[in-house]
Amino acid sequence: MSDTITIKKPFDSHVHLRRGAMLRAVTPITAEKFYSAIVMPNTEPPIETVEQAVEYKKEILAALKNHQGVALMVSAFEPLMTLYLTKKLTPAEIEKGVSNDVCKIYGVKSYPYGATTNSQWGFRSILEAKDVLKKMEEVGMPLLLHGEVHLNENNEEEDPYDGEKLFIADVLPRLLETYPKLKVSLEHMSTSQAVDFMEKNGKDGQLVATVTPTHLMYDRRQAFSGGYRPLLHMKPLIKRREHKERVRELVKKGLPFISAGTDSAPHPESKKFSSCCVFGVFNSPVAVELYTQVFDELGCLDKLENFMSMNGPRFYGLEPSSETITLAKKDWQTSEPVVTEEDVKVWPICNTQHGLGNETVHWQVQA
Ligand SMILES: [Zn+2]
Repeated sequence: MSDTITIKKPFDSHVHLRRGAMLRAVTPITAEKFYSAIVMPNTEPPIETVEQAVEYKKEILAALKNHQGVALMVSAFEPLMTLYLTKKLTPAEIEKGVSNDVCKIYGVKSYPYGATTNSQWGFRSILEAKDVLKKMEEVGMPLLLHGEVHLNENNEEEDPYDGEKLFIADVLPRLLETYPKLKVSLEHMSTSQAVDFMEKNGKDGQLVATVTPTHLMYDRRQAFSGGYRPLLHMKPLIKRREHKERVRELVKKGLPFISAGTDSAPHPESKKFSSCCVFGVFNSPVAVELYTQVFDELGCLDKLENFMSMNGPRFYGLEPSSETITLAKKDWQTSEPVVTEEDVKVWPICNTQHGLGNETVHWQVQA
C-alpha cells in the first residue's frame, strides 16, 4: 500500500462557516483544503433571501482576502450559497436564486424544527412547504435534508437516537413520492436505515447523500468514553457501532451518489463546555485527513477521490477542481484550538487536550 495519495482538491458538500469573528477564524481552514463548499444557511438570523446570501458570500470572500499567510493558497475558493427553508421562503425567491448571476443559490436546506443549532425557524414537517418544493422541483433546485424527525404529530419529542430512522421510514418516502423529480441530498447520514434506503433508492444526480468524518470515525463508545464527550456532540447523534460499520461499508462501495460533507460546525468553547452543550462538531482542521484515514483502514483508497472530489460537484452541476492535494501516511497530533480575533477558543475534534485522550491522526496533507 502506497504511503502517499494525490487526489483532486476536495469539495465539501456541507459546512457551517458562521459569521463575524468566528467566520474569519474558520473559513481559511476550509478554504485551504477544499476548493469549494456548500455553505449552510443556519446563521443567526438565517439566510432566507438571495440578497442575504449575496451579503453572506461577500463576508466569506472578504475573510479569505484579508487573511494573512494563507491568502495565496485559498485564492480560488468558491463558497456556494444556500437558503434556509423557513416559512418566509417563497417560490419567487427560488426562481430568483436558481439563475442569479451575482450569487447563484445551490440548494435549500431543511431543518426539523428544534432539532439542532438554529433550527427554530424550520417547518415541523418538510411536507408542509408545498409551494416552495413544487417550484424547486420545477427549476431543479436541490433540497438538502437534515433528515430527522424531532417532534411527533402530538408535538411530543421523539427519542433523539430514533430521529433519522423515523424520517427514513415515513417522511422521506412521502416526500419523494410527492415530488418525484425533486433533487434531494440526505445530509450527514448516520444509521443503517439510511444506508439501506440509499442503497435501494440512491441515484446519481437525483437522490444523493453526504457522510461526515465524525460518523465514519466514532460511535457511541467514544461519545461516552470516560463521561460525555462534548466535542462529539452533534446532530444526528453519534450512533451505535453497528450503524457506523454500515456507513463505513457504504462508502467502501464507491457509489456515485455518496460524497463527503464534513458538517464542520464550530462553536465557542463556552458553549461546548457548558451545562448544556450545543450540537455541532468542528472538524475542518482534520476532516480531509480523517476521511483518508478511514478509507485507508477500509482498504479502499482508490475510492477516495470520487467520494471527496468528484461526486459532490457533479450533483451540483460543477466541474471538479483542476488542482490536486497530496496526503502522506504520517502520524501527527494536534493540541491547539483555533482562536478567533476576539480570543474565543474553538476546539476541533481529535485533539489531545479535549479529545478522547492521546488521539493521533494518521494521514497528513502535504504543503
Ligand atoms: Zn450541518
